Amino acid sequence: MTDATPLDREESPRCGEESSVITRGELDSSIVSACCETLIPWLNEEATVLVEDGKLVCPYGDCGAADDIAELDVATRTNELTISAPGHISASLGDSTFESDGFECQRCTRRVSLPDGYELTHS
Ligand SMILES: [Zn+2]
Ligand SMILES: [Zn+2]
Repeated sequence: MTDATPLDREESPRCGEESSVITRGELDSSIVSACCETLIPWLNEEATVLVEDGKLVCPYGDCGAADDIAELDVATRTNELTISAPGHISASLGDSTFESDGFECQRCTRRVSLPDGYELTHS
């Protein structure tokens, strides 16, 4: 007996069938239902976004939202302080540095990752 959780049967979120669970042979080894290869959200921490008809589609079978993927980031801004009047300090809005903190589907708020071969640029 190993300490890994045995993957046997789970309810498929797309068709509702009690299906056996398999691992799809991708880089991130997504855990999917055997019947329709739908990702099982509660067995996957972070799934790769799908691209369908030029849109980013949520990979989770029970969601599947199109164009609802967002980047989460954390910004640090340096605002210089000056005394503008007696008793008042003013802060000028300065340069900010953004750090990406991952991606999520805004519909189901689950974490996702970007598909291979795509590069993210900010506009
Ligand atoms: Zn199914
Ligand atoms: Zn979603």
